[in-house]
Amino acid sequence: MVRRGANQPSVGGYNQAVVLDQIRRADGLSRVELAETTGLSAQTVSNICARLLDAGIIEEAGRAAAAAGPGKPRTTLRLVGTSRYAVGVHLDPSVLTFVLLGIDGAVVDSRTRPTPSANDPARTVRLIVTEIDGLLDTSGVDRARVVGVGIAAPGPIDAERGVVVDPPNLAGWHRVPLRDAIAQGTGFPVVLDKDVTAAAVAERWHERAPGGASFAFLYLGIGLGVGLVLGEDVVRGGSGNAGEIGHIPVDPDGPPCACGSRGCVAVSCTPAALVAEAEALGLLPATHVDDDARSIDEALTRLVVRAADGDAGTLALLERTAERIARALAVVCNLLDVDRVIIGGPMWHRLAPWLEADIPQLLASLLVARGLHHVAVAGTGLGDDVGAIGAACLVLDAALAPQPRSLLLG
Ligand SMILES: [Zn+2]
Repeated sequence: MVRRGANQPSVGGYNQAVVLDQIRRADGLSRVELAETTGLSAQTVSNICARLLDAGIIEEAGRAAAAAGPGKPRTTLRLVGTSRYAVGVHLDPSVLTFVLLGIDGAVVDSRTRPTPSANDPARTVRLIVTEIDGLLDTSGVDRARVVGVGIAAPGPIDAERGVVVDPPNLAGWHRVPLRDAIAQGTGFPVVLDKDVTAAAVAERWHERAPGGASFAFLYLGIGLGVGLVLGEDVVRGGSGNAGEIGHIPVDPDGPPCACGSRGCVAVSCTPAALVAEAEALGLLPATHVDDDARSIDEALTRLVVRAADGDAGTLALLERTAERIARALAVVCNLLDVDRVIIGGPMWHRLAPWLEADIPQLLASLLVARGLHHVAVAGTGLGDDVGAIGAACLVLDAALAPQPRSLLLG
């Protein structure tokens, strides 16, 4: 292993990111509190705060009396949420979601457009560029304050080259250099990541006190995948494609899968599989929607209406789905020993009323370390746009969060 050192500027940049991260996650902190929580000297904190104040990223927000006894009141420092922005784009097979996110993680503006159904990536790229332009126009933000554009795309991706590589639910997308195309079209720096990874980054960016927690984000879109944060680190794997759970077998009697197994997640838990099973059971009219993302989406909505009406066959199907998902999550949790599971994605809120109650107890019964610690399961607090919010968080995370690897000399 090659050991690399750090030089003064890279340490300075890292310390500044640590201070900003502390201010961002608190409602207000004084310089004294910052020195205490970061372990940096008072002088270093003071210098960093002067730079952040100069840049308009933080502001002085009044004075608070010293916590212990008499003494000079302390000036509280607070993040300026409107000082920087990032644009997030979620490329989903059925819908394009755009958000403009402030540095404080608040959604300033958002919009959705149907994903062009023709197998025409160039048309989708043009639409994305036009809509980003429109979003910035209507929101009226100063473009100089936009740090960049993040794109969350279905995997697999070539992370190094910023290329979308043959995603199973986007017909016609063969090695599309999406990152560079959007950079060229908008003039902004662009980052591209998998949608599941973006969702995990969104959760981490919005946590008040990350505290080294490890979690898996189960992303329920047209496909299923997990985004992973272990300790403080987002896990991307060697090629940026970690988190593919599609071929975990969860039902030994399930349908055959292209991988040669039976009852994999990909053929027994996805919305397409759910709709196909409902059609086979006569719960939905057989329309054989197959790969068309929008019709699967609509059929899923019809299915949850049946569940809401109390249809016994539909409820039993959703119960089986909860069990299968819990089995897949158990493999992830047992392998990585995470503390929490967060579930979200465009399909989640419709299915949550039927899956949310069953998954935690089913999962708990399958965990090897259940006697040692509890694994909490909860829906995301970030809503259906978590992919797009995550895409914007990729930009903020890369530009502003403390990245230990930034210390390494190139
Ligand atoms: Zn399989």
